[in-house]
Amino acid sequence: MTTPWGLPDFDAHEEVHFIDNEECGLKAIIAVHSTHLGPAGGGCRFWHYAKDDEALTDALRLSRGMSYKNAMAGLPLGGGKAVILADEAKNKTPEMLHAFGKAVENLCGRYVTAEDVGMSVADMIEVARSTKSVAGLPNSAGDVGGDPGPHTSLGVFLGIKAAVKRALGKDSLNGLHIALQGAGSVASGVALHACAEGAKLSVADVDEARAKKLVERIDGQLVSPDEILGLEADVLSPCALGAILNEKTIPQLKVPIVAGGANNQLATPADGERLQARKILYAPDYVINAGGIINVCTEYLGDGDASLVRKRIEGIPTRLEQIWAESEAEGRDPAAVADAMAQRLIGRA
Ligand code: NAD
Repeated sequence: MTTPWGLPDFDAHEEVHFIDNEECGLKAIIAVHSTHLGPAGGGCRFWHYAKDDEALTDALRLSRGMSYKNAMAGLPLGGGKAVILADEAKNKTPEMLHAFGKAVENLCGRYVTAEDVGMSVADMIEVARSTKSVAGLPNSAGDVGGDPGPHTSLGVFLGIKAAVKRALGKDSLNGLHIALQGAGSVASGVALHACAEGAKLSVADVDEARAKKLVERIDGQLVSPDEILGLEADVLSPCALGAILNEKTIPQLKVPIVAGGANNQLATPADGERLQARKILYAPDYVINAGGIINVCTEYLGDGDASLVRKRIEGIPTRLEQIWAESEAEGRDPAAVADAMAQRLIGRA
């Protein structure tokens, strides 16, 4: 099958920009998938890619995911994403961040950036020196804004609880075992919420020191990154990188539920069907992990306070329940049901 521009992940993206600034060493891609519902909102990832085309694939897939995520969270935002191609040592300079901010500003508000993997609140302050189209900036106590990570974690935690209720009939995570992939910003918040409710956690991260630190805080168990997907548990919560649910890994899973914060967990749409065939309940990633963008959107648009953010995040379980109910009624896997709902919302049914 021929695909537009020879790119299987190109999905009628409205704009894709390539930035190559030799002076400061910035190499970045900004992908605007849809502005149907509003400015394209989505974070900026700072990552070392072995090949440049992997970065383009990430930008195309992640930006489409943001269109779907923002629509399903009921936000007046379209979908976009930026990736900065880091060198092997992941060197990051203020000049690179300023140049990135300039590139965002050149889009005249059509793309709004924020933190994602490898970017911090401090980095966003630098980016904000060159553009107004930025969210995820520090906030004063009680104000909306700041690091989206804790809000994403809260939504993922509430989504895990909804999945546990549906698949296992339990109202609490007390005594349940969660296999957590990742020990970063989102994973740590999920771990702390789940631990406070009495869950037992096994944690793996390629950064072993990071995993150890989290394990100590929650009295959990350290597991190697190779083992985490095959662990017997009540819930697998992928909170690291994408494409980890695929032809090879799905047969190894020993869990009734997959619910986590990582973006693009399914390598292909067929993997949603594979989970369904194994009777594993899947929480579509961009629905369960919308907490951060809900906070970012409310900050950027200035249309509400912290209690509205909380209320919107508390709507995530309801949306998941709608998806699972439609999935059961129609015999389609939850990821396919969510995609169809999102496409209707962005006018691409
Ligand atoms: P982070 O950089 O704080 O943490 C990611 C962690 O994953 C790092 O510690 C990294 O070492 C680890 N990791 C990478 N590859 C791994 C592997 N193969 N096995 C185990 N660990 C691995 O990033 P984050 O903000 O916590 O984001 C985690 C995921 O959640 C990403 O997919 C991100 O796109 C998604 N997400 C984040 C937010 C947010 O608000 N931060 C919102 C929505 C989605």
